[in-house]
Amino acid sequence: MDILIPFAQTGRIGAARLGAELKDVVQELGPPWDYGSSTGADGLPYLYAYGSLEIAVCHAHCQVIDAVMVQTDWTTMEWPSQEPGQPQTFPGRPTYDEALRALDEAGCPWENYQPLTLEDQCAIRVPASGATFVFATDEGEKPVLCSVSVAQHRPHPCG
Ligand SMILES: [Zn+2]
Repeated sequence: MDILIPFAQTGRIGAARLGAELKDVVQELGPPWDYGSSTGADGLPYLYAYGSLEIAVCHAHCQVIDAVMVQTDWTTMEWPSQEPGQPQTFPGRPTYDEALRALDEAGCPWENYQPLTLEDQCAIRVPASGATFVFATDEGEKPVLCSVSVAQHRPHPCG
């Protein structure tokens, strides 16, 4: 929650924010730990990861960030620490109640988000940043937080 609440309020995690370039994040966090297998016209992957932090970029060489996602449905989440390449770990899978309590305690307004509320999931959105929280509702009684993300709705014009 120490990561998720500031992300929900501002829509950014350090250098990782919509419209920034991947190289700004690499400067801050070092080389990505992993990357996706699909590539764009310039042969570069779209998706980069530092443990539970994922960054999607436009499909060309400029690598402008068009989505920032935190995957929270890992039993143990991994996160960049102060030491480049050394992950810090903490328990994942916060519940719906924990997430909403933390937002309320931080005074961060949110609303139900119907476009991502489906049979097996529900979602809320923080209007201030556009951050969307998606919860799985099909794994027992308490919905579990799967991810928190921000995404550009208009693709970068280079594409
Ligand atoms: Zn671009």
